[in-house]
Amino acid sequence: MIFKVFRVSEMETLFDLLSVNRIIGPVEKGRDVAGRPLYDFDLVYDFKDLKIDYSQTIHSAKNYVIPYRENLCTFTFADDDWQKDVNFGVDQAHVFFGLHPCDINALNKLDKVLMGNTYPNPFYGAKRSNMFIVGHSCLPIPSCFCHSMGADSVLSGFDLFLTRMGDEYFVEVQSARAYHLLENIETREVTHEDHLRFKQTTAEKRRLFTSEVDTSDLTKILDMEFESEVWEDWGDKCLSCGTCANVCPTCYCYGVEEEVNMDFSHARKVKQLYSCNLLDFAAVAGGYNFRPESSTRLKYRYYHKHRGFVEAYEESLCVGCGRCGNACLSDITVPEVIASVRGGDK
Ligand code: SF4
Ligand code: SF4
Repeated sequence: MIFKVFRVSEMETLFDLLSVNRIIGPVEKGRDVAGRPLYDFDLVYDFKDLKIDYSQTIHSAKNYVIPYRENLCTFTFADDDWQKDVNFGVDQAHVFFGLHPCDINALNKLDKVLMGNTYPNPFYGAKRSNMFIVGHSCLPIPSCFCHSMGADSVLSGFDLFLTRMGDEYFVEVQSARAYHLLENIETREVTHEDHLRFKQTTAEKRRLFTSEVDTSDLTKILDMEFESEVWEDWGDKCLSCGTCANVCPTCYCYGVEEEVNMDFSHARKVKQLYSCNLLDFAAVAGGYNFRPESSTRLKYRYYHKHRGFVEAYEESLCVGCGRCGNACLSDITVPEVIASVRGGDK
């Protein structure tokens, strides 16, 4: 890893250099009832609109690599022949400016599922390989527990990572294109003093976390508590709305539908994100639903995140961003669910 330092005032130059591409970054979308800003990722054309010191976006970068609804391909039938057109949904490169460690870690986990197996998903892969990522340090908000999930820092999956240290950035450079980009910015070499400041900054961040999840022996405890009544209790609260999966940076379940025109001249294949909490997620042909209760569906979402994925990849599928709990109308949060399964207070 190559380290550099540049002044915060150089950030606008970096933005301008990258703006030959489409830049997506945190912007303010409105205010909540308490008057606090609400952020989300969106196209940014003007540096002034980039809210780089944002707390957390409502949605994650997932929505750009796995759009909520995506046309996979269209079919045209004519003259006893047919044609298939595939659209990978990539017309130009995207720069993601200001992703926090948890969101980069989330993309790294999605890569393992959607690109790292025998049948990589070309729609996801096309978008992922056309991304330039500028990561940015953050401070914990009350609902996030990324340190518990090992996602409060990130080691890979970015081109540049910027850690704010007063009026300077400690810069981690991880790609050749990022290295050459920095040749157009006033940087300086890191010193021993910078290393100390970086370590102090990250240690201070760790002390600010107020929410946590005890993951020790969690896969075993989940095995032991598969029949626990706590799942019924949480299922009674759950509205089966699927909002948690929608905002989650690592939920990737989807369905594919084929739509055919009434005159059979055109057809298309459409992929849409889905949630394992939705009522018909496990409904199959013949009308049978093998997860009819909300408690079973909610339980399986937790077992996929904190047990099945750990067994497959030796890491959790949860990065501890806390978005699901913030968005849930029933106030169901990961720390409370896991604490209850472990035997703590719910
Ligand atoms: S957001 Fe809350 S209520 Fe909705 S499905 Fe998820 S856990 Fe259930
Ligand atoms: S399960 Fe909740 S806390 Fe974990 S990554 Fe998804 S949204 Fe974030």
